[in-house]
Amino acid sequence: MSNTVLKTTLFVLLSTLSVVLGCRGNQKDGVLVAVSINPLVSLASAVGGDRVEVARLVPPGASPHTYEPTPSQVVMIGRADLVVLVGLGFEFWAEDLLSATRPGNGERLVVYLSETVEPIDGNPHIWLDPVSAISQVELIRDALVEVDPEGASVYAENAARYISELQDLDRELVSEIGTWSQRSFVAFHPAWVYFARRYGLVQAAVVEETPGREPSPAELAGIIDTARRIGARAVFAEPQLPPGVAETLAEESGARVLFLDPLGGSEAPSDYLELIRYNVRTMAEAMK
Ligand SMILES: [Zn+2]
Repeated sequence: MSNTVLKTTLFVLLSTLSVVLGCRGNQKDGVLVAVSINPLVSLASAVGGDRVEVARLVPPGASPHTYEPTPSQVVMIGRADLVVLVGLGFEFWAEDLLSATRPGNGERLVVYLSETVEPIDGNPHIWLDPVSAISQVELIRDALVEVDPEGASVYAENAARYISELQDLDRELVSEIGTWSQRSFVAFHPAWVYFARRYGLVQAAVVEETPGREPSPAELAGIIDTARRIGARAVFAEPQLPPGVAETLAEESGARVLFLDPLGGSEAPSDYLELIRYNVRTMAEAMK
């Protein structure tokens, strides 16, 4: 059997299984919410509280940009009452799962958080702006009320509490970032554009415009030029940056390489509020 045939067979088998499991919805303890990435676990859990079980599709350490779902995730997404995705094509790998796991069944609600924001060039990293996260929490609250109307008052209360924590975080960031002497940075991949727009920072250049594709020597030279010209003190890298590229950039431009983490859950904190604080503390090392 070829690999493709095997994959297809497995997929059909598991899809059928997931539909069967999906029909057992009434026997579940709570509402099952499937989310794509780690930060959305925090948002959905904060609103759902004890009434929901939140399952994450992309495991810590994996890149959502180049992700391939596993068979157990086909089952998970098939059982979910609510699926929370970023949208803007970010979870391109989830679209087939969604159409395969419950064809024509209206019981599962799928929401796209990007519907609440003004997108910047189709960039999906909307969760990294804590003020945008407020509208995202409101969308999750409304979606939970739709799939579980009995929990409406609980969801409203939980959402209000979390929104006030996000507002506190925003105030904290405004006063912290306001003291930084450096406003421009070079990014490994364009994860921080919404964050930058919110807090008056400037992404001057990007190393990997397309996730997973390393820059050519000519592109790298262009980035080094930009970094020198703007006097960038920081290159925002991520753990998956090839170390060679990071070292070259740092040596040639005089900037420091800061390892940020837009997702968390492995070395960086898993909790959304703590993850943002962790990244801002790291940025401050070079930008203050
Ligand atoms: Zn990304």
